[in-house]
Amino acid sequence: MSSITELIHSIPVDPLTGAISVPIYQTSTFVQDAPGVNKGYDYSRSNNPTRAVLEQLIAKLEKGSTGLAFASGLAAIDCVIKLLKTGDEIVAVDDIYGGAYRLFNAVYEQFGIKVHYVDTSNTEKVFEAITPKTKLIWLETPTNPTLKISDIAAIAKIAKANNALLCVDNTFATPALQTPLTLGADIVVHSATKYLGGHSDLIAGLLVTKNPELGAKLKFYQNACGNILGPFDSWLTIRGIETLHLRIRQHCSTALEVAKWLQQHPLVDQVYYPGLKTHANHDIAIKQAKGFGGIISFSLKNDTEAAALELVKHTELFKLAESLGGIKSLISHPANMTHKSIPAEKRRANGVVDSLLRLSIGLEEAEDLIEDLEQAFEKTRNTKTTSKYEKATV
Ligand SMILES: *Cc1c(COP(=O)(O)O)cnc(C)c1O
Repeated sequence: MSSITELIHSIPVDPLTGAISVPIYQTSTFVQDAPGVNKGYDYSRSNNPTRAVLEQLIAKLEKGSTGLAFASGLAAIDCVIKLLKTGDEIVAVDDIYGGAYRLFNAVYEQFGIKVHYVDTSNTEKVFEAITPKTKLIWLETPTNPTLKISDIAAIAKIAKANNALLCVDNTFATPALQTPLTLGADIVVHSATKYLGGHSDLIAGLLVTKNPELGAKLKFYQNACGNILGPFDSWLTIRGIETLHLRIRQHCSTALEVAKWLQQHPLVDQVYYPGLKTHANHDIAIKQAKGFGGIISFSLKNDTEAAALELVKHTELFKLAESLGGIKSLISHPANMTHKSIPAEKRRANGVVDSLLRLSIGLEEAEDLIEDLEQAFEKTRNTKTTSKYEKATV
């Protein structure tokens, strides 16, 4: 049986009523037969039947042992960092999600946890950054917004040899394309807000461990700290995951068409998409993933903020918004949106130049998306752009 068929049928039919959709157990507590004697549930922070279905489902999808569901992707990341103690160090991808950077630097640094940021797409750099204090290696692959790819299997070997855990933020690839635990990672985290939820209608986070003892430790922190996902949002996430493979297949094929079209456009400079042969890490992308995802970034020949802001003003199908992974295509300008808090020089050095734009390819037809970009380019072609910051309108 194919793994997709198996996945769909591993979502249980309700044993009490036969309901084919997972029931939403919107309850805080569960009546006990005698003190401490219950049907497996006593209080919904510790355990909830709807959340439990989601937790088992993501563990199965990621080929791990323990799944845990949180109120947001950042809450899942926060739970992993609670494994560390004062004096411990993290080696992290330099292109890291801004919220994770803020959590590491503005929250955990004050507890004496130090983070070294390196270009993890160069495995040698990871090796060089390891010290005897390194307890955790943190990867995102592909990264946001320049879609750099890191070699998970090679970095897992470095982690093992140095007694450090490897955690991969798998939000961009999703388990439909890449399962880091099968490549040697210890923990996978997700912002389920993005592709797993898939409909831009919730905030949720997930984590999965390979090892059950590590899973039990993290489950203890989940309950002790209380950042759990509620029953209704757990149900929405399950419903999203039911169509994950279909959606990802479509996101990937449309994104490749759009990326190829952008690559030949006279106003476009660089196109970043791991599925293009010109992508710096194309070979690793092919080796470790089944597809290249739905995110594309590109810069303009006229590398000014004004040229980029002019273009986002004219797209109609591509909506100007943060986030990604939903059914509607989105466009964003990282320098002014997701990456605004990073100093301009550092940002540019990481490839996030002033004209860089990021696309989250939705489920519209490729030809309609291309037509939308074409008309937006046409409108900007003759517009005189100035370097003066002009507020973009949604
Ligand atoms: C959005 C995102 C997060 C944070 O998730 P939230 O659900 O917004 O808390 C973490 N990592 C990546 C790669 C993301 O894109």
